[in-house]
Amino acid sequence: MQSNQGMIGLVNYAPEPHSVELREVPLPEIGEEDVLVSVSAAGVCGSDLHQYHGKQSWPVNHPVVLGHEFAGVIAKAGSRVRGFKEGDRITSETAAVLPHDSALIRRGLYNLDPARLGFGYGVDGAMAPYVKVPARCLHHVPACLAMERAALTEPCCVAYNAVCVNSRVRLGDSVAVIGPGPIGLLCTKLAKLAGAGHLIVIGTVADRRRLEVAIQLGADTALGAKGEDAAQWVREFGDGYGVDLVIDAAGVSASLKLALEMVRPAGQITKVGWGPQPLGFSLDPLVQKAVTLQGSFSHNWPVWEQVLALLASGKLDLAPILNTVAPLHDWKRVFDAMHSGQIVKGVLKP
Ligand SMILES: [Zn+2]
Repeated sequence: MQSNQGMIGLVNYAPEPHSVELREVPLPEIGEEDVLVSVSAAGVCGSDLHQYHGKQSWPVNHPVVLGHEFAGVIAKAGSRVRGFKEGDRITSETAAVLPHDSALIRRGLYNLDPARLGFGYGVDGAMAPYVKVPARCLHHVPACLAMERAALTEPCCVAYNAVCVNSRVRLGDSVAVIGPGPIGLLCTKLAKLAGAGHLIVIGTVADRRRLEVAIQLGADTALGAKGEDAAQWVREFGDGYGVDLVIDAAGVSASLKLALEMVRPAGQITKVGWGPQPLGFSLDPLVQKAVTLQGSFSHNWPVWEQVLALLASGKLDLAPILNTVAPLHDWKRVFDAMHSGQIVKGVLKP
């Protein structure tokens, strides 16, 4: 799907809902410090779905090619690129544009720089045959790791940063994950690998299928498919004081309220899910229980290297989560199946 002038990419062309279609776009031109990546696989993220439904809470530079979770092969490397060459199998971080220099970049926290722009909303992403990537974003994909799985390094890094960097999981800690979407399920898997004791995943009636996946991933208890009261369940669990760590991977206000009810005194809540609505309830339990509330966003270089090693070793097994690999022209079917919860995660091949 490529001519001399252009290629066919999946473009989000306007802010109105459903403004996404396959369109001819120009082949990217690279600079001295960029590579041109021939995309092998691109994961569909909840944020791609939000942009499709026009419900995103971040600014989008329309028109833009969607897709920020991807792996591919270097087709061309700029003259000043070192350490990567044509033919290398790579995956890429998401901070496509960064300021020239900032205090956060110097601290290795470039993922938190407010001026950063990412693939798929700020600059053209990877749901197309080719994408331009600055070499500083690249990581080598280990030879044993299939490209469809390498394409999901990014969401795994979001979960790793939330569970293994921004939370403190001691061996045997009880952990509750609210929201069994792809990030919540990956948090479940990483909490299991990190030594969680009793692991609880909480969803709604609509999450029945995903809650089954949570059990496959090692959760001990899945709540919500039959309308169970999770707060009541936790009050009757163990010594009755609550769980050590709650991961909020849902983002709606109600999930933080539930997290505050379920967390034990001196426990921790890590919030990785977003939602633009105001809270509408009191934060007094946060004070009274002396709870640590921690935000977690994105990921940086050391997280990527750890996750790639976990994926290559097979310890971080994506089989229960990666349900569908489809050609790019089938994008709508995959977007709809993810949106309805029929599948957890889809990957598109341009
Ligand atoms: Zn994503």
